[in-house]
Amino acid sequence: MMIVMKPGASAEEIDHVIDRIVSVGARAHVSKGDEVTLIGAIGDREHVQRLELEGVAGVAQVVPILKPYKLSSAQMGGGERSVFEIGGRRIGGEHFAMIAGPCTVESREQVLETAEAVKNAGAAMFRGGAYKPRTSPYAFQGLGQAGLRLLAEAKEIHGMPIVTELMDVRDLDAVLEVADVVQIGARNMQNYTLLSEIGRSGCPVLLKRGLSATLEELLMAAEYILKEGNEKVMLCERGIRTFETAYRFTLDLMAVPVLRQLSHLPVVVDPSHAAGRRDLVLPLSLAAAAAGADGIIVEVHPNPEEAICDGPQALRADEFADYAAAVERAAAVAGKAFTHA
Ligand code: PEP
Ligand code: MN
Repeated sequence: MMIVMKPGASAEEIDHVIDRIVSVGARAHVSKGDEVTLIGAIGDREHVQRLELEGVAGVAQVVPILKPYKLSSAQMGGGERSVFEIGGRRIGGEHFAMIAGPCTVESREQVLETAEAVKNAGAAMFRGGAYKPRTSPYAFQGLGQAGLRLLAEAKEIHGMPIVTELMDVRDLDAVLEVADVVQIGARNMQNYTLLSEIGRSGCPVLLKRGLSATLEELLMAAEYILKEGNEKVMLCERGIRTFETAYRFTLDLMAVPVLRQLSHLPVVVDPSHAAGRRDLVLPLSLAAAAAGADGIIVEVHPNPEEAICDGPQALRADEFADYAAAVERAAAVAGKAFTHA
């Protein structure tokens, strides 16, 4: 249930409603807008209904949230889009974030060179994996802690917020020391204990859609994080499995406007993993930005031919500025501007 408070509701009236919700074993999730305060009562619907909050002082309306996901629902956003500030960069609303960097951290030179190139071209955040989810257990699994240290150095030198993947809860503390955004990869979208743990950490999350996950399953996964009190969840469409074999995955661009209808959370698109091929990355990025995505996460490498992982889909670092400028123009079509430091 969602309790919509009257525009001038006092702090005491809001606290009273929260106390009543908590008294029946439900959680109260408060979202203070410019005009009104919304209180999500998350728990047993019948218990909350029995409180008859409609008649309580300061309450304008009690609305059932019909979707199985509550905190991530558009209704919970009260009709407004969430805007997150991460290391001085904004994402959501009118703010478009370009997140760029290599698939995996390979060496100091590779990380620093890529970070410099993407920063100079207007990227808002730097991506790079130290822990890599590889299909083959024999493939390079990432540099681990040594990789995290290189990301920390890139952040120190270039001042960009870091987006990096967490696969195992045992690495949480090490990842949190460096990450400004923790990426939960497609293969872990339904790793519920990992989601709850990252929810408790409070660190912003980029949650990738599973290879065969529905949008409702994605939003339910986001709910696991939000439920722990972590409000900063970005949803990421990265291509899904379909019958088509002409490309690696099918980028579900319809997910962009539909997720923006269903949820207040920012929507990011990953064209690199969907395509698996460099030549498709620009057209997919333009389409995503024009469709209203709040950001793009894209792979870039100084020398893709020598990349340890995902080289064929990586944009060349020296071509990244032209790419970013084109995406910036497409984002403008959807009324969004690139966010910078
Ligand atoms: C990645 O971002 O490098 C990655 C492995 O992505 P995904 O989880 O979407 O496959
Ligand atoms: Mn990759």
